[in-house]
Amino acid sequence: MCSVFKIHYHSPVLFKMYWWQFIVILNCSCLFVKAAVIPDSDDVEEQGLYSKSDHVTILTNKNFDNKIYGQRNAFVIQFYNSYCGHCRAFAPKFKSLAAELDPWKNMVKLAVLDCSIEENNEICRQFEVMAYPSLRYLHENYLKGNGNVGDKFHPTDTAEKLKTQLINKMQNEQTMGRLRFAPPLNIASYSKLTDALGKTPQDVIYTFLIFENENSTVGSEIALDMNDYEHIKVTRVYDTSELADSIKVTTFPGIVAVTGNMEPTILTPKQTKQDILKSINTFLKSKNYKFPLRNIEHEESTISMHQNGAISHDSNVVYYNDLEKTLKTSLHTEITRHKILSNEPLQALIEYLNVLILAYPFRGNLKEYIVNLRDHLSSKTQWSGSEVYDLVIQLERAHAPVFSADLDYVRCKGSRAGYRGYSCGLWTLFHTLTVNAAQKPGKEGPRVLKAMHGYIKNFFGCTECAEHFQAMALRNRIFDVKDNDKAVLWLWISHNEVNLRLAGDVTEDPEHPKIQFPSVTQCPECRQDRGAWNLPAVYDYLQKIYGAINIQDARPTKSAAGSPSPLSNLDIGMLSFLLIHRLWRDSQLLI
Ligand SMILES: Cc1cc2nc3c(=O)[nH]c(=O)nc-3n(C[C@H](O)[C@H](O)[C@H](O)COP(=O)(O)OP(=O)(O)OC[C@H]3O[C@@H](n4cnc5c(N)ncnc54)[C@H](O)[C@@H]3O)c2cc1C
Repeated sequence: MCSVFKIHYHSPVLFKMYWWQFIVILNCSCLFVKAAVIPDSDDVEEQGLYSKSDHVTILTNKNFDNKIYGQRNAFVIQFYNSYCGHCRAFAPKFKSLAAELDPWKNMVKLAVLDCSIEENNEICRQFEVMAYPSLRYLHENYLKGNGNVGDKFHPTDTAEKLKTQLINKMQNEQTMGRLRFAPPLNIASYSKLTDALGKTPQDVIYTFLIFENENSTVGSEIALDMNDYEHIKVTRVYDTSELADSIKVTTFPGIVAVTGNMEPTILTPKQTKQDILKSINTFLKSKNYKFPLRNIEHEESTISMHQNGAISHDSNVVYYNDLEKTLKTSLHTEITRHKILSNEPLQALIEYLNVLILAYPFRGNLKEYIVNLRDHLSSKTQWSGSEVYDLVIQLERAHAPVFSADLDYVRCKGSRAGYRGYSCGLWTLFHTLTVNAAQKPGKEGPRVLKAMHGYIKNFFGCTECAEHFQAMALRNRIFDVKDNDKAVLWLWISHNEVNLRLAGDVTEDPEHPKIQFPSVTQCPECRQDRGAWNLPAVYDYLQKIYGAINIQDARPTKSAAGSPSPLSNLDIGMLSFLLIHRLWRDSQLLI
């Protein structure tokens, strides 16, 4: 009987609808997040996505003030969030830039702070970090103070663009009288060699003139790279200078080595910074120059990937641990990110707590705690982020025990530290909420979707994910969903759309490929021939996985396969009919 109502991929009407997303594409993708490790000492070997060997200063709430304020060198701090896909994708680029800029460390250092770690949250709030990754430049001798949040760098997708931005910034800083200890980065026009060498200190043996245009950053980069070369000076000269003509420099950027006795030698023109530096080094080698001792080799990032000690788990089961760990992270580090919480974000937070109260599979004291938190938050129209944090902790203590002390992900645990975790938990949480809301009287499923939209928009620390989600929500008409079962399926479809987009992404956990969920193995009856979905079976499967009665403790005592579906007594044929009917009706509206 069921098969009569199954949706066929070849149906021309349905094909036009947003249900095109049902097409089976068994693809994969995954994630990269490192576990947070905060040892007792102020210095940490590794945290979040970075380790010390990555040539970055790892900042924490404990060492931030000492490392950053009043320093002789400037800093570029990357505030990131280890579960944000964009941050994970950006990390290798930032590391490679940090290794490249290691010789600049006397002038500027690259530093990182993981805002997904609860203890670091206060600093992220102070620095008004609302998007990740967020890059700030802090000049030398920077002082702690209200509103001292550094100068914002534009978000970049490449290390090269970030480097250019940094060089431009350093040039500007020098025009403002800062970074005096760095080599001069200004560019000038000269007509004679004596002018170009003008104030060269006595101990300089070779001056390298770099002829280039105003917008080129190569000369500055060479000067910065060679900052620790003794008795050497680098001077930037406009390519349009008379001096270029008189020395006969015709290709730019052009390099001229000038000795103490004013003898210019034109070095073979090169395009890239690496080649220019190589040709300068070859020249210096030929003069038996003594190079500074340093290791400028790019060290392969030696991120130690922990083997996870995951409790064996059943992928067809949702565990309390995943939900509770997610909820704890959400309350401790996400909702407290705003410096000031009022208006829309505050309403979004209250509604998030409302739908938790409505549909979360509570155990222990958690429900009382959430209710109390919601009531407190509703009592004022404006909160500061630190007030919210204090309230969260204070109420957690008042209702203790709320979360178990050794909470860790089970189903959402990555095959290695760095994968999956919170974002997996967030999907799991909202699937659980839509499914359990659908089992309540009334039409609470659509309300959960709206609350999810509000949460992702206002609180989800992965800014890029939040933007993608909002765009998708608009496209897939999240606010038009009116029924409980549609809300469950809306989230399922939309999650599969994200899976499809992320399949093969660098963030993919190789052992948890991104598939069109559920796989044939997980739910054979969810598929039909030719890959079309059997929607009633999918709906039933989602109820089975995310339904409150099937959620288990970390040590599974029963197999989900053997547990009865909450809908098993329902007439699946009738459910199919209802679904198809609604789909059909929507298709008429959409065409
Ligand atoms: C709202 C949101 C938007 C995101 N956007 C981005 C983004 O733009 N870019 C980015 O890099 N990362 C994004 N992420 C993170 C990304 O979707 C994954 O959460 C992350 O890559 C971890 O993947 P995972 O392998 O743990 O599985 P997840 O995709 O997190 O899924 C968690 C679990 O849910 C189950 N599941 C999978 N698909 C479905 C489904 N369709 N229906 C029901 N259950 C399902 C599976 O058991 C899976 O293990 C987003 C996360 C969220 C919550």
